[in-house]
Amino acid sequence: MPRRRRSAERPAVARGQRFLRGRQERAVRERAEKGVSRPRPRSSRPGVPVIDIQDVHKTYSVGDIAVHALRGVSLRIERGEYVAIVGASGSGKTTLMNILGCLDTPTSGVYRLNGLDVRGIDEDALADVRNREIGFVFQSFNLIPRTRAQANVELPLAYAGLARGARHERALAALRQVGLGQRVHHMPSELSGGQQQRVAIARALVTNPAMILADEPTGALDTVSSGEVLSIFDRLNDQGRTIILITHEQAIAAHARRVVRISDGTIIADERGSSTAEAVR
Ligand code: ADP
Ligand code: MG
Repeated sequence: MPRRRRSAERPAVARGQRFLRGRQERAVRERAEKGVSRPRPRSSRPGVPVIDIQDVHKTYSVGDIAVHALRGVSLRIERGEYVAIVGASGSGKTTLMNILGCLDTPTSGVYRLNGLDVRGIDEDALADVRNREIGFVFQSFNLIPRTRAQANVELPLAYAGLARGARHERALAALRQVGLGQRVHHMPSELSGGQQQRVAIARALVTNPAMILADEPTGALDTVSSGEVLSIFDRLNDQGRTIILITHEQAIAAHARRVVRISDGTIIADERGSSTAEAVR
């Protein structure tokens, strides 16, 4: 799939995204082959946190240098929460997101997703869980160029082997949810940055995941578009979806009901806003 790399994107992140794309594609293909594309019950259970990580470390080896990106992170996130993970560039946010999204594995520590220890899940089942439970949104949208908004949104469903009519219908509904019902036939190049990110959110939503993981989703947007994107996340959370929003900007983090601060690979604060009591619905 052709992709342009933004200069702001560091190679490690770009590599991570390629890695992600490969895994996501494989996940949906396998699902289609197994013929399990029909809706299935969620694996979550009441009272079990969606995310529960304990003392997670991640160390990258670059030549003979060890980079300690995460140094003992523990975090529990309940279903329906709206959490911002905020920290400076290089603090370990994307590394944490890759682990939470089962795109990468910790060097040590435990990760339970919906109560299941991901170490015990084989690669196929993990790909299935990831594909079914998690919608990803990135700073650089990652839309397919020269492909209409509707086809971009349909893609995860097409891989899953859904019939054409059903695909159209669900993609249209997802695009309407992000306020783009009038832009379904536009190419990405015919859309503003904010609109492109809304298409990407529709694509993340179309498989009806329980959790949205967004890494700097407003990083490439102007203030007005950022506001539109954030209000979509607010609304999705109001509807009960778990939102994890990664950002380096305090003002963006203020949208969440809970703010987790990360610095140099460790969590240094975990603050809940006054409305957090409503978060678990
Ligand atoms: P953030 O998203 O907060 O900017 P990252 O998680 O991308 O931080 O990076 C945390 C640290 O880990 C940085 O020092 C970064 O250079 C390093 N890092 C991230 N990904 C890799 C990788 N694939 N290989 C080596 N080092 C990496
Ligand atoms: Mg990052």
